[in-house]
Amino acid sequence: MCKASAEKAKEISFAEVKSHNTPKSAWAVVNKQVIDITDFAKRHPGGDIILLAAGKDATVLYHTYHPKGVPQALLDKLQIGTLPDSDVPDSYYDWSSPFYDTLCKRVVERLKTLNRPLRGNSDIQIKAVGILLCFWGSLYKMYTSEFHQAIVWSIVMGVFAHFVGTCIQHDGNHGAFSKMPFINTAAGWTMDMIGASAFTWQFQHMLGHHPYTNLLDVHEEENKAKEIDTPMEQKDQESDPDVFSSFPLMRMHPVHEPLWYNKYQHLYAPVLFAFMTLAKVFQQDIEVAMNKRLYHIDAKCRYGNVWNLVRFWGMKALSTLYMIGLPCYFHGTKGGLILFTVGHLTCGEVLATMFIVNHVIEGVSFAKKDSREEVNGSSKPATAQGVTPMDETLKASSIKAENKVPLNDWAAVQCQTSVNWSPGSWFWNHFSGGLSHQIEHHLFPSICHTNYVHIQDVVEDTCREFGVPYQSEPNLFVAYGKMLNHLKAMGRMKAL
Ligand SMILES: [Zn+2]
Repeated sequence: MCKASAEKAKEISFAEVKSHNTPKSAWAVVNKQVIDITDFAKRHPGGDIILLAAGKDATVLYHTYHPKGVPQALLDKLQIGTLPDSDVPDSYYDWSSPFYDTLCKRVVERLKTLNRPLRGNSDIQIKAVGILLCFWGSLYKMYTSEFHQAIVWSIVMGVFAHFVGTCIQHDGNHGAFSKMPFINTAAGWTMDMIGASAFTWQFQHMLGHHPYTNLLDVHEEENKAKEIDTPMEQKDQESDPDVFSSFPLMRMHPVHEPLWYNKYQHLYAPVLFAFMTLAKVFQQDIEVAMNKRLYHIDAKCRYGNVWNLVRFWGMKALSTLYMIGLPCYFHGTKGGLILFTVGHLTCGEVLATMFIVNHVIEGVSFAKKDSREEVNGSSKPATAQGVTPMDETLKASSIKAENKVPLNDWAAVQCQTSVNWSPGSWFWNHFSGGLSHQIEHHLFPSICHTNYVHIQDVVEDTCREFGVPYQSEPNLFVAYGKMLNHLKAMGRMKAL
């Protein structure tokens, strides 16, 4: 055996991979191969976004951020060892179906035919410039107008801060805003510009929510209720923070036992939405940067680097200056604080509305995984349960046998746990930053949102062909009503 082959065959434990979790030394696992991405991060075509994989099993990220595929030779070149079978993390997902490969091929082909690049386009870039001008323009008017007019400008500023969140930073941090990594990084920084943290968002959204949408590890949830915290180095949790982080204030997922006040959550939820961004800016961001973790997610891949900490605290200080300091300078302390709060409440309300209807809504599925269940030494296939019952295999009578998709196929889970509204609408796709085509976004997070309206029919047709559910609501208004219905049901239903 030559030296290189012997090195690749060398067994490296998952515990060791987890200890290489900073930009200085970044290892990751892809399909059992242990790869060293420390130097490669500098020449990775998608930029240093790859460092989010440091110290983690990145199999889901690897598959879902590369719709055109990655040459196996590249992985082999980066390989430094192999994960022993006993250490391979027990994943909820099945990758045996051709469903996702077929979707990728068809979507790439469609965009090629239309001559549209997968990442970035002039339409998103022109829109971004317009949004940034409106954000800064409304902030300036808020400083210089009479107080009663400044209140209106702070509402306008809040609305445009939300557009920065949905139409610029979202694509930037997903690596979808541009083909050039440094432009994606700059677009991602606009999250810090509006006072929040792009890093915290990357952990929650890209490492928690996207790969494991509406999925909860029931064992970890029980531990949490008993205040047992699994040590960080043992954590290997496939859970979506978006559906557990607001519990018990709001019960969104059926595995949790409802509390008495959850009965009223459909009434108070719209009030809580307004406080979402304030809670992120002043509590969650700070906690994550100090503790270097977000719930079960190790955050050292970003905060294990001094420059990133300087960026985080520097942007917090700078944004505090122009979001709170300058309004107080122009309108006095009380006036400035009122303007800042009104802007934030507006941004929080609009942002939460746009995000929540996509996954927490009547008809959508919720999955659960029990990491303690063991059969013959290996974990049982994870069980999934939805508000609407789901079968072992997704079925439709007209589907050919070879097209049957397992219930826990990664792409099929994305389709079952996400909902579109106003599908095919160019206007709403632009207005919502592609959130109206949530199914397409979850299947292809690295594809620019301005492309979703052009691939929507391809995705829907392929879902029909494979018998995979594809839920669309006619408009945001209907989707909002169904979201409240879901919250109402969750406030009363016993835990599953
Ligand atoms: Zn996203």
